[in-house]
Amino acid sequence: MPQPLPATMQAVSVREIGSFQFEQRPVPQPGPGEVLLRVTVTGLCRTDLKIIQVGHRDLVLPCIPGEEVVGEVVALGAGCDTTLLHQRCYVYPGEWCGSCPACKAGAENLCRFMRIMGFHRDGGFAGYVVAPLKSLIPLPEGLSDEQAVFAEPLSCCLNALELARLAPFETIAIWGGGPAGQLLARAATAYDALPTVIEPDPQRRKLAKGVAEPPEQLFDVCVVAVGNNDAYQQALTRLAPRGRLVVFSGLSKETPAITTDFNQLHYLEQTVVGAYGCCYRHGRQAIALLQSGRLEVGDLISHRMPLSKLAEALELVASRQCMKIHLYPEACTP
Ligand SMILES: [Zn+2]
Repeated sequence: MPQPLPATMQAVSVREIGSFQFEQRPVPQPGPGEVLLRVTVTGLCRTDLKIIQVGHRDLVLPCIPGEEVVGEVVALGAGCDTTLLHQRCYVYPGEWCGSCPACKAGAENLCRFMRIMGFHRDGGFAGYVVAPLKSLIPLPEGLSDEQAVFAEPLSCCLNALELARLAPFETIAIWGGGPAGQLLARAATAYDALPTVIEPDPQRRKLAKGVAEPPEQLFDVCVVAVGNNDAYQQALTRLAPRGRLVVFSGLSKETPAITTDFNQLHYLEQTVVGAYGCCYRHGRQAIALLQSGRLEVGDLISHRMPLSKLAEALELVASRQCMKIHLYPEACTP
């Protein structure tokens, strides 16, 4: 017999930039075309740290953060197929309009009316979360919740590689061996490309089988997965003719400008392309890739913590003393 839903849940609440608190909240009700999920695991990422400490362009307060969510459907709003009940799902964090120019072009991550879970609407740092039906990606048998929650960061990497037009046997240099850098490298390998991760930290470098300094060679694709101006400057010097530089990581609001020799871009026919977030199809591709076994993620989980230890987890992210941290709301004690 399924357990009846509790009336309240513990949730992480950001009411003002710079702090968060745990709150006892009513379990939300799904509206028409929405479902309620019991959150089984959420991934913590640098963006969550940013949201809480300094805010984010897309953040609307008050908000429950958490945009990397896997859960079990436990209640349905009007118009939802009852076969979804008890289905394990990965939640694509975006809710898009479907009719603006960006949506029509297949770039719903740039939708004019985009509402992102954990930014514009409540996310998964809670016992339960409401999600639109069209954002759900049911999990195949054999893919664990822990593996599936990597679909979110992996989707962003797949979007970046798509925009880079990465082809098999091409070389790709990735600046930064954090979780995103590691996933970019593994996705590139799964696509039969040849990645090199540039990472000064010995532990992260070892995990990525990377190098401390960029080699002298030129690369077909350069991706900067670290918010560092010098990395961008370096990447521009390693770009092959017809090379593509992907602006994957944002820079500090105070110093977002990079000096670029446009004659280099002109004579060598190079491209600079931005990548931000992911589309629904990247979620599908990510789940398929994880399911295929061609992209392992288990060894990227450095910590498994109850959601109640969020402060500690954020410190680990801030000091880079972790790889991927998974948070478990179930283990939270009210
Ligand atoms: Zn749209």
